Amino acid sequence: MAPAVEVAKLVKHYRGSHRGLNGIDLTVGEGEVFALLGPNGAGKTTFVKCLLALLRPTSGSISLFGEPAGNPGARRGVGFVPETPRFPDFLSAQEVLRLHGRLIGLPHDDLKLRISERLEAVDLTDAPKRVKAFSKGMIRRLALAQALLGSPRLVIMDEPTADLDPIGRRNVRNEIAGLKDQGATVVLNSHLLSEVERVSDHVAIVHQGRLLAEGGIDQLVPDGQDLESVFVDLIEKAGN
Ligand code: ATP
Repeated sequence: MAPAVEVAKLVKHYRGSHRGLNGIDLTVGEGEVFALLGPNGAGKTTFVKCLLALLRPTSGSISLFGEPAGNPGARRGVGFVPETPRFPDFLSAQEVLRLHGRLIGLPHDDLKLRISERLEAVDLTDAPKRVKAFSKGMIRRLALAQALLGSPRLVIMDEPTADLDPIGRRNVRNEIAGLKDQGATVVLNSHLLSEVERVSDHVAIVHQGRLLAEGGIDQLVPDGQDLESVFVDLIEKAGN
């Protein structure tokens, strides 16, 4: 069976600079919860955008479930929670999800039920009428509902718990655990290392576009330490 994500020799340089990604090799197995960690500017969002084929790599290859990342077949099975979600502010949460459901071709009969289930899961059933009146945390919860509407087999989340209160963070954790139970794969970026430690099976630490360390939480974090101290140690040793 092909892995959920297979990245080989991935380089992405932005025009006129050598910033971005400088040769990443990484495999994420189907059903894993994988977290990509790194300091600001390490290349995490660049990595996510390459997986989503929103950015074209300078070189190297990426496949999702054995298909090149840009192929429609590979993209169909992916749900995405962006770092800064934006929705038309004149729509309601239901209308946002209805629009999204239609765009991804969900059957009409099923859509109403799915939308109410998704809104309930992210606690937005009684949200204000229009997105315009949503708080940042509500927008992020709507983005999660949108990403999961089509029951994707791979869910990519860029900072999914940013702006969320403790209850919102717990809901995201529960969603991730639920996705794992259903056999879906989750790839997430986060700076919240305590959250990552609670939900992830597999972690990679990136710095200046290169992988510094990768493995299971148990392999990376020795007894008596936590992920944050391992992270800080590695980044300080790597220097600038
Ligand atoms: P953060 O944790 O701050 O969100 P990140 O790990 O997601 O950071 P990226 O946004 O992937 O980092 O940026 C990686 C590097 O690429 C940084 O040096 C950044 O300045 C650079 N970069 C990102 N986007 C562009 C762009 N559009 N043009 C030029 N350079 C860019």
